[in-house]
Amino acid sequence: MKKILIAGGAGFIGSHLCKKLLNDGNEVICVDNLLTGQTKNIISHKNYKFINHDITKPLDIKVDEIYNLACPASPKQYFKYPIYTTKISVLGTLNLLELAEKYNSKILQASTSEVYGDPLIHPQIEEYFGNVNTIGIRSCYDEGKRCAETFCSDFKREKNIDIKIVRIFNTYGPNMRVDDGRVISNFIIQALKNEDITIYGDGKQTRSLCYVDDLVNGLIKMMNSECFGPINLGNPEEYSILEVANKIIKLIDSKSQLKFLDAIEDDPKVRKPDIKKAKNLLNWSPTISFDEGLKKTIKYFKTEI
Ligand code: NAD
Ligand code: UDP
Repeated sequence: MKKILIAGGAGFIGSHLCKKLLNDGNEVICVDNLLTGQTKNIISHKNYKFINHDITKPLDIKVDEIYNLACPASPKQYFKYPIYTTKISVLGTLNLLELAEKYNSKILQASTSEVYGDPLIHPQIEEYFGNVNTIGIRSCYDEGKRCAETFCSDFKREKNIDIKIVRIFNTYGPNMRVDDGRVISNFIIQALKNEDITIYGDGKQTRSLCYVDDLVNGLIKMMNSECFGPINLGNPEEYSILEVANKIIKLIDSKSQLKFLDAIEDDPKVRKPDIKKAKNLLNWSPTISFDEGLKKTIKYFKTEI
């Protein structure tokens, strides 16, 4: 039985990861300050402990492994706390790396496709350095995560810590907050209520969406591998936002209409992971189709609203 700390374990992805690691027979310590997480994601289990703590402050818990998922991930959420968002990625990751150093724990950093910014190459390979605005409204998230990758690389080089970096691409599924603000939760809730579907910009921008169970399997495979990374994890099936909206309207048989709103500043125009590395090095690829994942997520939100 391993003792595993999950920072951000009361959030969307973290809650699924906690559950899977518990089911696999581990002891799980969820560290979360509930900034964007939910108390209903806290699990009642004899091998699970919840600690309400802000990772920008140091912590001292002896564990075998650390997953750092703590950071607001939805643009709607991090636009509310830009300065704090950078602090969480930079100071929070530093605190967890120092914890890993103290107890010689393995640590996995949840990075993001946002490190590629508004990408000029497509699909995005891990070697691409990205096209990121340093002073825009998304920069707090993008640059915070980029700096966290730098800390991870230097801790590995200077202190030989066993670190793994994964770059997560858009992921969706149950346990997202109703007010999360990201595309899948927004569109499903709007379609279920027969309200207008809010398209930011012309809807021609693309995303490639991964169901959360696939992503969680990838995170665990990465932790158990010898790889440092960074490794892209995501589902390469690419859709325009208009296609996503129409698919959800059809699956729900909704009366919703499309409503076009102003585009978000610096919104990446395309996004699709190249996952050759994950396939070759981790023997990982997504198994859940977009339709199947959407149906599971729709079922979840029906009970939430
Ligand atoms: P989320 O907002 O649902 O979860 C983040 C969790 O971190 C929340 O429970 C929140 O309360 C907690 N948290 C935030 N600041 C904290 C702090 N200072 N101290 C302790 N806990 C704190 O987001 P998510 O979608 O589950 O994302 C999890 C991680 O994966 C994030 O690091 C995010 O950047 C990364 N990621 C997610 C996606 C995606 O599509 N979901 C894509 C790329 C990267
Ligand atoms: N989006 C949209 N309407 C919404 C929410 C999002 O058109 O109600 C668009 C958004 O502009 C972006 C894409 O959907 O182009 C994905 O947005 P999300 O916030 O889910 O994640 P991002 O990839 O931007 O971090």
